[in-house]
Amino acid sequence: MAIESIEGCNGCKMCFYVCPMDVIRINDDSGLAEIRYPEDCQACNLCAVFCPVEAIVVTKDRFSPLMTAWG
Ligand code: SF4
Ligand code: SF4
Repeated sequence: MAIESIEGCNGCKMCFYVCPMDVIRINDDSGLAEIRYPEDCQACNLCAVFCPVEAIVVTKDRFSPLMTAWG
């Protein structure tokens, strides 16, 4: 697993813009973020960091090249 859930989204679209893997899409009907391609998530945590309402939960059990490059 990687991205776990989105709850309490306000539709700001920030996660959609920052996700490098196109995992998150904005639902046409609700205008809210949804996890569309969870298998592509790299657990980089960008979506969770940029979400202004802390709606996104990302688990850390997958190798993350973006985070370890500086570590
Ligand atoms: S953790 Fe990274 S790859 Fe996964 S959904 Fe969030 S921004 Fe996209
Ligand atoms: S960044 Fe947070 S509030 Fe904004 S669309 Fe994504 S989940 Fe919703």
